[in-house]
Amino acid sequence: MIADLVGTPPNASGTLNKSGDLIITGERFKFRVDLKNPGNDAPHMHLEEMINGKWRDAVRDTHRIYPQQ
Ligand SMILES: [Zn+2]
Repeated sequence: MIADLVGTPPNASGTLNKSGDLIITGERFKFRVDLKNPGNDAPHMHLEEMINGKWRDAVRDTHRIYPQQ
């Protein structure tokens, strides 16, 4: 579950980006969805981890996570 990784309030907070897609930011993980505005790609999500002060892909070499069909 995303909540297990990212956390729940008050340790995590949710917001919407310009397109109305959800971003949940926790202390160590950030979960972003690009469903409404995925650019030139299929709808996808990102799971990022704070490492050495920068948000990086939590799963190495997995920048985009696609929902299972
Ligand atoms: Zn994206």
